[in-house]
This record gives sequence, structure tokens and C-alpha cells, in this order.
Amino acid sequence: MNTVASNFDLHDLSVFDLAAKLAARELSSVEVTQHFLARIKTEQLGAFLATDADVSLLQAKAADVRLAAGERTALLGVPLAHKDVFVTRDFPTTAGSKMLANYRSPFDATVVSKLGIGPGGAGMVTLGKLNCDEFAMGSGNENSAWFPAKNPWDPTRIPGGSSGGSAAAVAARLVPAATGTDTGGSIRQPASLSGITGIKPTYGRCSRYGMVAFASSLDQAGPMARSALDCALLLSAMAGPDLDRDSTSLDMPAINYATELIAASAHNVSATALKGLKIGLPNQFFGAGCAPDVLAAVRAALAEYEKLGATLVDVDLPLTELSIPVYYIIAPAEASSNLSRFDGVRYGHRAATYSDLNDMYKKSRSEGLGDEVTRRIMIGTYVLSDGYYDAHYLKAQKIRRLIAQDFQKAFTQCDIIAGPVSPTVAWKIGEKKSDPVANYLADIYTLSSSLAGLPGMSVPAGFATSQAGGGMPVGLQLIGNYFNEAQLLGAAHHYQLATDWHLRKPGGSA
Ligand code: GLN
Repeated sequence: MNTVASNFDLHDLSVFDLAAKLAARELSSVEVTQHFLARIKTEQLGAFLATDADVSLLQAKAADVRLAAGERTALLGVPLAHKDVFVTRDFPTTAGSKMLANYRSPFDATVVSKLGIGPGGAGMVTLGKLNCDEFAMGSGNENSAWFPAKNPWDPTRIPGGSSGGSAAAVAARLVPAATGTDTGGSIRQPASLSGITGIKPTYGRCSRYGMVAFASSLDQAGPMARSALDCALLLSAMAGPDLDRDSTSLDMPAINYATELIAASAHNVSATALKGLKIGLPNQFFGAGCAPDVLAAVRAALAEYEKLGATLVDVDLPLTELSIPVYYIIAPAEASSNLSRFDGVRYGHRAATYSDLNDMYKKSRSEGLGDEVTRRIMIGTYVLSDGYYDAHYLKAQKIRRLIAQDFQKAFTQCDIIAGPVSPTVAWKIGEKKSDPVANYLADIYTLSSSLAGLPGMSVPAGFATSQAGGGMPVGLQLIGNYFNEAQLLGAAHHYQLATDWHLRKPGGSA
């Protein structure tokens, strides 16, 4: 069997193709797992925070036994890795924070067990845990307490954040797919900046149980892979109600998002594939704040959509700009509450020496939490405090509702909303590190749909052509109405049948 790998690069295979070869017994899960582990061992991108070859190979062996017994499920034996905010029994979980150094969860997050090799799981093999911004707060992975992850297309640049390790690992073919979490853009933005595909489902579609909480009314898990089809395969396994453990999980049955996509692949792309689809373009997403490189790629992608039969209509999302202050009040407010559990007693790092209880809390938290997390806790505590609550937090909640209503108005005119994911391509490591506001502003196109709880996706749509753009990837954002993940994945899949941006490989990935 080892000879098979020499006929093609195993790591270039999609999740779909890997699963097919595993099911046909052309490859074994152990062989595939070993191949990826070897790549991870020498990776220079800072994508991984933890691996354990023994654990992964044990899981692969279990998958092979099931494959040998004739079991055939969509993902059995295919490897993946998890963002380090999903708690895992078999690997440490740090959420990118010193606060959780050496933390080991006694249980797996729901998403982890749904995808994994255990009973009732999809049978995927876990290769390890992926770097991220501390407690998922950031846009460039530079807030990881451990080390920054690097962009495989240019290792002097950020891969995006906060799921930066996930994006870098998938783009560099260190894993065929990964999980991510998105509170204000953390799946879509790193997917865009690293040239891969990612989907943030409707809020509640995937259980938050076992996801280290950042801002609970916004946090959502989703898959990151190279294609929409691969994302569909993973999302089908990840999604579904988990009401006993996460009361905000949607009480809607899991859907197989891949079936229609696989059927579509079997037919030739025709000019009518997306006939009738109305794509709304908010002028707020195409303004002067967006880099010309990004706009050019997005417009070219939209022209491709027209060729596939879609029509473009103008829509209005007048409160887009306000999504930044609103998000940066609500998310820190919730974070300040969620992170109070990290006090050195219930959870986390405890200072070695202290004079009294207060001193212990203060020292433990000061030592364990990084600057950005501390900043957010301070902002959050401030906006929730007596006298400021009405002026800031409550006002932000009211505008959040108006933002959600604007989307509903827009969706009376169109089926999907499209635009850029990020106003620029990936920036240089260090460029914005000391300027938190510059990071916040870069979230302009992802925050509003997060606040509204809508599903959103990033689809590779080309590369920057200017000198400053450095040939970096550009993502197209597709935003759907509630529960319309299938429509988003379908629209992305048809585009990917007609284009090959998602198949391009970064030079430094080997
Ligand atoms: N960049 C945003 C932030 O820093 C979004 C993060 C996320 O989605 N986890 O909060």
C-alpha cells in the first residue's frame, strides 16, 4: 500500500477523495495519518500547539478495523485537527493562553466527539490542536500566548485569526480539514487570508458545549477545508441539536449538506447552474475602505456568478460601520463574564507566591492572561458597570437588533449577500500588533452578520495583483439567511466547479 502514496501527493487529496480511497481500501487510515504526522513534525508555520502520534495512530488503527469490517461513512479514517479552543480528552487544551498551560479536559467538546472515532462519531482521526489567538480574541493569531502562526503563502505575514493555525494548517496541507470558531469572523477571515474555504453556520447550528467560551451569544463552530464540498462533509457531522448541554443549540435535525453537492459535481457546469439566484451587494461592503486588489478579485468572482446564471442586485446595510463599536462592546462584555472563571482556583494558572486571596487572584490573572484579553476584560467590565450599562451595553444591544433587521430587509431583495471578507489581504506579522484598533477595524465585513447570527462563508476568489498585495489570496464572502447553510455551500460549490482558486497551492507548503 505504501506505493500508492508515491503516485500522487497524498496531502493534496481532498477530504472527499481521501474518504473514497479509504473506503475503497486503496489507502489505510494509518498510512494517511502517518503521512500527515510526518508533515506536521517538520512544519515551520507555528500552526500546531499539540500533537500526539500515539493517540492519532491508535485512532487510525480503530478506523482501519472499521473500514476492514465494511463500515462506510463519509469521513471514516480521514484526519483533521481542532482549533485549541475545543476541549479534548486526548490532547491538552490551552485556548492559546498561558492561563490554561497544561490543562487537560476530562471530556471532549460535542463537535469533537461528533467528528471523532468514538461511539456515534463520524470516525475522523485527530492529528492535534491548532494555534489560535488567546481565547479566540484577535484577527491575526498574534495574540497567541505561545507563538504566532504564519501564512503559508508568505510566512512573513499573518494567516488571519483567530483560527489562524487552522487556516495555515489546511492551506499548507498539514491537514485535509480543521475546525474553527467564529465569534466575529474568526473562521471566515483566516480562511480568506490563507486562501481556503470556511463556513460559520447560523448561530446555534453547532453545539458550543466544550468550546472555551469567548462571547456566548456570538460564538459558533464551523469547518475549514480547501473546498465547499469538504466543508459540507464536515458540517454535516458537526451540526445538530445538543439541547441537554447547550440550550442555545438549534432544535433542528442534522442535514446532509454534501448530497446535493456531490450530485452537482457529477453534472457538467452549465450556464444555468445558479439561475434564479439573486446576490445582494451592499454598497457599504464596496466602499473606499476596501483595498483595490480585494475589490478587483471580488468583482471578478461576482462576474463569474453572473456567468453561472445569478443576478446581482444592490442592497443596503446602512449600519455596517456601527457593527465595529457594537461588537467591541458586546463581545468584551460577555468575555469579561465568561473569563471570570479563570481565577487560579476554579480553573487555570495560579501564582506561585501571594500575600492573600485578593493578591492571589490578581497575580494569577495578571500572569496568566495576555494584553488583549486583559484589555477586553477591562472594557467589558466597564461597559457592564452601574451607570455605564445603559449608555454602552444596552445601547449596543439595541443597535444589534437594528443590524439584524437590516439584514432581513435586504433578504427580501436577494437570496445571498456577497462582498469581501476582509478589507485587505494578510498583513505583515508585527504590522498591527501594537495597534488593537487597527485590528478591530479590519473586522468590518464580518461583524455585522455575526451580530445578526447569520451563516457566512469565505470562498477563495483569486489573488492580489499589486506589489503591496504580494500575491496574497483574497476571499469572497457569502452571507445567507438563517438556516441557509445549504444554499451557501451550493453557491460556493458551483463557483468552485467553475474556478480553480481553491486548488492553488502556496509555494512554501511542502
Ligand atoms: N477579530 C475578532 C475579535 O478579535 C473576532 C474574533 C473571533 O471571531 N473569535 O474579537
